[in-house]
Amino acid sequence: MNTQDLLNIKQLLASKKQIVIVPHKNPDGDAIGSTLGLYHYLLKGNHQVHVISPNDYPNFLKWIPGEKSILKHDTQTKICEALIEAADIIFTLDFNALHRTGNMETALAESKAIKIMIDHHQAPDAYATYVFSDVTMSSTCEMVYHFINMLGDANLIDAPIATCLYVGIMTDTGSFRFPSTTNKTHEIIAQLIEKGANNAEIHNRVFDANSYQSLQLLGCALTNLKIIPELRTAYITLSQEELNRYDYKKGDTEGIVNYGLSIENMILAAIFIEDKQEGIIKISLRSKGHFSVNDMARAHFNGGGHINAAGGKSFLSLKDTVENFISILPKYKKALNNE
Ligand code: 5GP
Ligand code: MN
Repeated sequence: MNTQDLLNIKQLLASKKQIVIVPHKNPDGDAIGSTLGLYHYLLKGNHQVHVISPNDYPNFLKWIPGEKSILKHDTQTKICEALIEAADIIFTLDFNALHRTGNMETALAESKAIKIMIDHHQAPDAYATYVFSDVTMSSTCEMVYHFINMLGDANLIDAPIATCLYVGIMTDTGSFRFPSTTNKTHEIIAQLIEKGANNAEIHNRVFDANSYQSLQLLGCALTNLKIIPELRTAYITLSQEELNRYDYKKGDTEGIVNYGLSIENMILAAIFIEDKQEGIIKISLRSKGHFSVNDMARAHFNGGGHINAAGGKSFLSLKDTVENFISILPKYKKALNNE
């Protein structure tokens, strides 16, 4: 973000504004952590601030400071659309294309508000007035830390803000182990702990929130895991019937795809999850090294994301989606074996 943009934003925030902050649909730890971290910061500037999520999020995020104030567009459409229409500024966090907000897309596109994007995904769309986009960043939470810092307000970061930002950095880096984790990330984490983020408690709340049923579902997923050794690929399927059998709740499948990559020599892992209600197969892709699942998701699965973590969807049946996936793999054989 250049100095002029920063000055403009600083000036904009110098007087009271009506502000809406939006994460992507099916928000994860980084989306909820970054929107709430920014929310607490902007409240200190005396603004009127609302976080509007397109829909609900997992229970393991339902303790983050300020979480209860989040409005959900799918169940509170009228009030959300009125707030979007009345907003002076709309921050869009942890996504970079308006369709990532699902049914909120039209209201956001039609809004006259000044839009500010803060995001770390590849290939941002050009909808925002101000764009803070950096694909080298571990997480949007790390970027919100920099944003507050660049506005000269690091001293305003208190325990609630630090807690929110810690959550997203922790979840998006796989607990500080993915290559996106830098020395700077660790420095910021140290700062956040100093400001009052309770690292051990945050870890417990997010990762030790399994139910008996969710572990049974994990067992089912691992039983379904298949590998294609010559293509260094592992994939998992979960049908709607299997999800129902283990009383699936939002968030229960989070992270399961990573088990595929934990097998020796695997470079690419995928999970295909049937969603009968939406009529789609939700796809998550993960990779190691230079193999870009962002490219694969964009080319074949109506999606995108990062080099090593991307998502998308398919409108075929679960079986046909997997067959399609297997059929496209040979053209990546060289790339998969180059790692
Ligand atoms: P996940 O597999 O955990 O849903 O998503 C992995 C990464 O890809 C996340 O950063 C997420 O924001 C991004 N992502 C997931 N689904 C989509 C999609 O349909 N389109 C785009 N552009 N990105 C996605
Ligand atoms: Mn993120």
